[in-house]
Amino acid sequence: MKSIEPTDKHLPAVRCASWCENGDGHPLAAFVDEQACWGVPVRTELSTEDLVRDSDGQHTPYLEVFAHRHVDGAPTVRAHVQIGNGEFGFGMTIAEALALRTGLDAVLDQVGGASGVIA
Ligand SMILES: [Zn+2]
Repeated sequence: MKSIEPTDKHLPAVRCASWCENGDGHPLAAFVDEQACWGVPVRTELSTEDLVRDSDGQHTPYLEVFAHRHVDGAPTVRAHVQIGNGEFGFGMTIAEALALRTGLDAVLDQVGGASGVIA
């Protein structure tokens, strides 16, 4: 099997974020967008939602979050949601992600989830 080697059609390698799943500087990227760093996805299954039905059958809906950074950009948090018959993604600044965490903590406090006592 022939391996793919960097050529002059590829961009120069970049310095990856410490958390980048790829971690090698993305030497085979032909476009800047292909040099974005992505962290390990953290998945939460959404068991109260209807099962997702797609060409692979049906499965539990989920929300995944990832660390993300464009070349020379600030790190952000990306979210990917697969729910119902659709999927979508969105990004958050670090400040927005922290605000979301604060909001989740506040709601969990209301229902007793953060303390382990269900109200
Ligand atoms: Zn990277």
